[in-house]
Amino acid sequence: MVISMKEERDLKGKTFETIDPRTGEVIARVAEGDKEDVDLAVRAARQAFDDGPWPRMTGAARGRIMMKYADLIEEHIEELAALDAIDAGKLFGQGKAVDIPAVANLLRYYAGAADKIHGEVLKMSRELQGYTLREPIGVSGHIIPWNFPSSMFFMMSAPALAAGCTMIVKPAEQTPLSALFYADLANKAGVPAGVLNVITGYGPTAGAAIASHMDVDKVCFTGSTEVGRKIMQAAATSNLKQVSLELGGKSPLLIFDDADVDKAADLALLGIGEICVAGSRVFVQEGIYDEFVKKLKEKAKNWVVGDPFDPRSRQGPQVDKQQFDKILSYIEHGKREGATLLTGGKPIGNKGYFIEPTVFTDVKEDMMIATDEIFGPVMSLMKFETIEEAINKANNTKYGLAAGIVTKNLDVANTVSRSIRAGTIWINCYFAFDRDCSYGGYKMSGFGRHLGLEALHKFLQVKSIFFVRETDKIHREVLKMSY
Ligand code: NAD
Repeated sequence: MVISMKEERDLKGKTFETIDPRTGEVIARVAEGDKEDVDLAVRAARQAFDDGPWPRMTGAARGRIMMKYADLIEEHIEELAALDAIDAGKLFGQGKAVDIPAVANLLRYYAGAADKIHGEVLKMSRELQGYTLREPIGVSGHIIPWNFPSSMFFMMSAPALAAGCTMIVKPAEQTPLSALFYADLANKAGVPAGVLNVITGYGPTAGAAIASHMDVDKVCFTGSTEVGRKIMQAAATSNLKQVSLELGGKSPLLIFDDADVDKAADLALLGIGEICVAGSRVFVQEGIYDEFVKKLKEKAKNWVVGDPFDPRSRQGPQVDKQQFDKILSYIEHGKREGATLLTGGKPIGNKGYFIEPTVFTDVKEDMMIATDEIFGPVMSLMKFETIEEAINKANNTKYGLAAGIVTKNLDVANTVSRSIRAGTIWINCYFAFDRDCSYGGYKMSGFGRHLGLEALHKFLQVKSIFFVRETDKIHREVLKMSY
């Protein structure tokens, strides 16, 4: 069963508005799922897992359905990119050329892995032998943030589908539209009833009901560190379900004296925005600091903020009024704390939620703009002298999602990349992703990994099976094994 607004599965008929961040106007009203709806969806997913075909069919058969699902997504790239543009403010051109094709390919990647899930033969004695099975974990709950509605949907759901899990997916309340479209396409692709259930609704109601549900075996959460803590608490006080958390970040970008200043400034600008791995703390070595500041200011002025459908735009609107206000209040706070506004700092236009790319200099490490995840187009620029200082400053954060290093010196690149406590390090690049390469957090950026086979394994559990050739030898053999 796929639950969607169209199928009118909302028990009480409650709805909420979803807003176009370009204008602040309402796009649509969407079913507001709550605890009762979550119960219904979990029941469907439980039944599909316990009695349905999905976990029982061969991996190859699951893979074929997932391939079909990917093909259907590809047939609707434009509509899906447009939905994320109007609902989340994502750049339409990027959605069409990169994000939506990437989710189709992500499904294909995991479809190809579905028939390669296997356990191991255990090395034991001739009499006592054993092997392991990798079995799907069961019903998984996926709670998704708004910043990449399509990518996040599939980074969590594609490996879960391949593993043979059934699932409840809750998109962020700000961005429910593409998720509903994906639910519909899953149906059309032949994903069996009850396997992929989409519930639209708010975090403290629908999200919390998933995290605390006694019949959900795993909760897979991507979002803020604050809510991640609540998810863990809910799991701990309910059925001790497995938890994986992909949380916030305040990633450093370290630019060394030997860097090409022009290219480094381009990389730094990539790092601003509603992106969990954003390089929002930029540390520049003193020898090139002044030149870098000048270059960055020029480039920031040419950075086009505008309608996500305009191909010239490099940055769309912030997702909603709340996020818009939060970012502007951080900017005011930065000014009050004594940082210097190099560029930006103001809203753009009189409708929608557009903010200028904003760069602060004279930032001290303990200022809120340098410690908190702002999740908007705000960069803090700081200076360093030595490699040791750069490493210490980079690690001076509760987060550990990613880091970037710009240098031509291999020794520096090696030393720094091994010394930074973060799950992904980019050397002379930023935002490089590959579906075969996992990413995720150290420290308070969470645990568990998206992408790669690591992500598939988080939806599997290992069962060990022992057997003896002759029953009367059991006790003797077991005894032998324990020494
Ligand atoms: P958020 O934590 O506010 O919300 C994320 C999801 O959790 C939403 O679906 C929301 O409805 C739900 N939620 C809220 N309260 C809940 C509760 N009490 N119980 C259960 N669910 C609840 O995050 P956001 O504002 O949507 O997204 C931004 C955050 O996500 C940033 O911190 C960003 O760094 C992080 N993020 C991390 C990654 C990653 O891979 N590490 C990727 C994208 C975004």
